[in-house]
Order: sequence, then structure tokens, then C-alpha cells
Amino acid sequence: MKLERRLRRIASITSLAVAFLMIVLKVWAWLATGSVAMLTSALDALVDAAAALATFVGVRYAQQPPDPAYRWGYGKAEAIAALMQALFLAGAALALIFQSTARLIRPEPLDEIGLGLWVIVLSTVAAAGLVAMQSWVLGKTDSTAIAADRTHYATDIAVNLTVLAALGTTLLTGWRRADPAFALAISGYMLWNARGIAADALRQLMDRELAAKDREHIKDAVLACPGARALHDLRTRDAGDRVFIEFHLEMDGTLPVTRAHAIADAAEKAAGALFPDGAEVTAHIEPAGIRDERLDDKVQAKDGEGGSSA
Ligand code: ZN
Ligand code: ZN
Repeated sequence: MKLERRLRRIASITSLAVAFLMIVLKVWAWLATGSVAMLTSALDALVDAAAALATFVGVRYAQQPPDPAYRWGYGKAEAIAALMQALFLAGAALALIFQSTARLIRPEPLDEIGLGLWVIVLSTVAAAGLVAMQSWVLGKTDSTAIAADRTHYATDIAVNLTVLAALGTTLLTGWRRADPAFALAISGYMLWNARGIAADALRQLMDRELAAKDREHIKDAVLACPGARALHDLRTRDAGDRVFIEFHLEMDGTLPVTRAHAIADAAEKAAGALFPDGAEVTAHIEPAGIRDERLDDKVQAKDGEGGSSA
């Protein structure tokens, strides 16, 4: 699909170019107007553009194949990039909250509000145009990156409209605290956004267990294999580029190793097939009914989530 790749490329380059242009315009408008709301939306756009770049590099890095030094692969690089993005966003948001609060206490008049309005209307139209273009491209191709980018520009429109409201209110009512008040709302949103990104990244970095539904599917797939009697100590994690799955597989204890290994292989394949993006599955073979020291028993005490043995 040559056309598809070209469309995606054009979509990414256009969105990057527009993002850059909007940042320059907004910084200029901030300097001209002195509006904190404008500064907030400029910084939001700047962090977003940096994040898009970091994600691009992070994903590439994470997709490297395993090598002798990193035999689990590089999947976590993506989560680290996301965590750094969240920290930058949170840092910018905190600085802006500080700045907005200071302006709320000691309000200052705005200059050149007309120019600010033009810039913000222009960037709202540009963001709307990008959303329309990306929707069109998404109709022709299927790219999660472009889908994420589109969501991002959709929230960008909301941020722009907030700045518009800040400038408009100041122009119409002359109320000096309108600008920092709206800026505070945007920076609060940025902080909330950072929290969400960080939580997602930390889940991955801390090797959180997959959803209970996924665990059930794995158990069902394994136990459907002929010769598999039971399984316990199922343990999973999502490394970004693929998932890792391990479990203890109980089978007839008198089977020859060759036969047992074949059953374990089939069970590993069945579990891995549930994850088309890639899975590494390891089964530990045990004679059925063995009373070994179990992880399942240790985690039982906490709560049922993803815990109970099969
Ligand atoms: Zn066991
Ligand atoms: Zn083997």
C-alpha cells in the first residue's frame, strides 16, 4: 500500500509543521499581549510537540530486537519516554499555575488583545483543519499514531477556545483577572493530563499484571490444550512492544520429558496466539497435584484481582 504510506507521511509532516508554526505564533502573541492564558497554550503546544518527537524516537528505540545485553528487548523505552513527557508536562503546568496565581493576586492589563484574538482564531482553525485531515486519512488507513495525534488536536481546540474566552472576556468586560483565571483552568488540565500519562507509563514500568479478562483468556487457552491438567502461578506483564507470560503447567507426572515438553510447547503457543502484537510465553512443567510453594498463595492475602489459581 504505497498510497497509504504516503498519506500517513503527509499527515504526520503537515501536523508537525502546523504545530511548529502555531508555537511560534503563540509565543509571539504572548509577548505582544502579556496574556498568561496565551503563554499557557503556547507551552502546552511546545510540550506536545516535544512529546510527539520523544514518542517517535522512543517507539523506534523500543522496537529494536533483543541483543546479548538486553535479552528482554527494549520495550520499556517507550514507557520511559512517556514518563519523561509526563514530568515535563507537570513541570510546565506547575510553573504556569504559580504564574497564574501570582497574576490573580496582582492582575495586569493586557496589550494588543486584537492581535491575540487573531492568533488564537487562526490556530483554532488550523487545529480544526488538522482534525478534519486526520479523520480523512484515518478513513483510508489505520494508524494508532495518527489517531492519537487527532485526539491531541481535538483537545488543542478546547485549549484554544479557553484562551479565546480569556481574551474575549478581558476585551468585553475589562476584568483583569479573567486571563489568569482561564490560564489556571488550562494548567490544571495539563497537570491532570500529566497524571494520566504518568500512571500509564508507571503501570508498564512496574510490571503491572494484565487485566483479569486477559488472564482468564490465557487460562482458558492453556487448559484447552490436550494433556494440560491445571495451571497455577500465572504471571504476566506488558513490556510495551509485547507481553511476557509465565505459568506452572501441571500434567501427568509419568509422561516422558519429550511428551511433556510437546504439551508445554502447545500451551505456550496457545497463550501467545492471544496477543497478535507479540508475546513471550514460558511454561514450567510440573506433575499434576504437586504441593509446591506458590505465588498464588502469597498474593491471595491481598485481594482477588488477577490472583486466584486455576
Ligand atoms: Zn508450581
Ligand atoms: Zn523448549
